[in-house]
Amino acid sequence: MLSYRHAFHAGNHADVLKHSVLTATIDYMLKKDKPFAYIDSHSGAGMYKLDSKYAAKNAEYKTGISRVYHKEGLPELLATYTRVMHEANVGKRSLTYYPGSPWIAAVMTRKNDRLSLHELHSSDIKLLTENMKSVAGNKAKVINSDGFAGMKALLPPQSKRAVVLIDPPYEDKKDYQYVIKSLKDSIKRFSTGTYMVWYPQLKSHESKAFPDQLKNCGATDWLHVTLSVKGEPKERGMYGSGMFVINPPWVLRQQLEEALPIMKKLMCDPLAGSFNLETHES
Ligand code: SAM
Repeated sequence: MLSYRHAFHAGNHADVLKHSVLTATIDYMLKKDKPFAYIDSHSGAGMYKLDSKYAAKNAEYKTGISRVYHKEGLPELLATYTRVMHEANVGKRSLTYYPGSPWIAAVMTRKNDRLSLHELHSSDIKLLTENMKSVAGNKAKVINSDGFAGMKALLPPQSKRAVVLIDPPYEDKKDYQYVIKSLKDSIKRFSTGTYMVWYPQLKSHESKAFPDQLKNCGATDWLHVTLSVKGEPKERGMYGSGMFVINPPWVLRQQLEEALPIMKKLMCDPLAGSFNLETHES
């Protein structure tokens, strides 16, 4: 029985980090004529209404997307991201919807690109199917089964180009090890794919050990970015998040170098917030 609903967190600081890296990566993939596969191992509902009872409960978007949405003169990474966010709100005077990763991928990709979207939650799978109808046409497949097993089965893709987003809830601590195992298996099957793993920064041992485990998955080219919106709290709770990207677009480092100081200024505690960016190349 799955309890996690992304609707409670839609548009928070972690989504801003995750989805700005995602939009930059898809934007880069589009520069070549050749089609590619987009695989979402954990898709969520695809679109969230920010005044719904879920998103409004803790209004996490107010310290995330709301701080970035109306800003002008943003660096490229955030300009690409906010362009897509505005597309999700066409016809609305103010920020009303927050798009999830499947919707972002659906609007950014071309007719010949292929989307495979996994989701297990019995309510979110219905919402995802509905939300994809108008934007994805025939290029997307919504798959109601385990995303860890599903992504491996799709690799290598026919197109020999792929972006894979791995974004589990981590409410079950086993998710950390499932990510590592499926990444290792996937890299063996298809070493040139671009794999993006999101993870929460928490006090837990599993969260703290995770970046080193990701670095030892067998990939030689990677980028690791974290945005901590506050200092590590005494109590439980997420204080930031990280994105680990295997085979990142070569432009991503520079784009993040420009964007991270702005993201910190807009979304982080001025004294205790921080970011970190590291890369490794073969
Ligand atoms: N990637 C989405 C985005 O960026 O908009 C958010 C995904 S949310 C963090 C994680 C989702 O994974 C939840 O909707 C949950 O129901 C789903 N889920 C949990 N375990 C799963 C599994 N083994 N396979 C596929 N989906 C799963």
